[in-house]
Amino acid sequence: ILEVYITPIIQENKVRQVAIIFHDITSIRQVEKMKSDFIANASHELRTPITAIKGFSETLLSGAMEEKALRERFIGIIDKEAERLCCLTNDLLDLSQLERRNKEIDMQEEDITSLLKVCSKRLETKAINNEININLDIANDLPKIKINKNSIYQVIINLIDNGIKYNKKGGILNITAKEEGSYLLVSFKDTGIGISKEELPRIFERFYRVDKARSKEIGGTGLGLSIVKHILDMQKVKISVESQLDKGTMFTLYFKLKE
Ligand code: ADP
Repeated sequence: ILEVYITPIIQENKVRQVAIIFHDITSIRQVEKMKSDFIANASHELRTPITAIKGFSETLLSGAMEEKALRERFIGIIDKEAERLCCLTNDLLDLSQLERRNKEIDMQEEDITSLLKVCSKRLETKAINNEININLDIANDLPKIKINKNSIYQVIINLIDNGIKYNKKGGILNITAKEEGSYLLVSFKDTGIGISKEELPRIFERFYRVDKARSKEIGGTGLGLSIVKHILDMQKVKISVESQLDKGTMFTLYFKLKE
């Protein structure tokens, strides 16, 4: 997109020259569009649970409260939708904090083994409830890596959480960590529903969820992976994803080791 300014250069009451200035505003317009798309998406996502909460509470107030079965069902829905609102606002706050944060983040030498253990422990109950087995296969004596621990914790939690959510009953989530060349590789490989070739490039987009209807049952905001990508970009950690529909998905993180 070009903005064009035409300015006549006048000398002695006569137009002597005309200056034409071209200003490429493509990137400005793109950023503006991204922002307004984001606000539109966020409002839409927030409105869905709010509408449900309002609808069901109004119905309760106008009489449905009398019937025990109805009352319980409606309050259950209100609770679920309020939970969704809570997840959405948390994710939105995380994103805006990440965007505002100075590029200078606190990086320390950390031990990835204990971090992976803490994260998988944290999601152990969820894995058991979903009948998923988490296997940890971590090489001995891995070197420390320079990271911002809290945010990498968030990345790992997100990837394990997805490996559980989008898995199949009785499925496996293999977490491996090893040294390869000048990188420390950490991968999360599940035996879940997988992602098609067409959808794969889009999963890091904000609010993008594969197969909206199915993912609605599973629960999530569509913001997790965009937060993951944001955190990793800030720390110059690469991420790759491979997937086969109906077979499973593998995310790999590449932490650069010191030469
Ligand atoms: P959500 O909150 O929906 O889980 P994410 O940003 O974490 O959002 O992921 C975006 C979408 O990518 C998900 O809705 C899901 O469709 C797909 N996805 C992410 N991880 C996996 C996985 N391990 N297996 C299959 N699909 C996945």
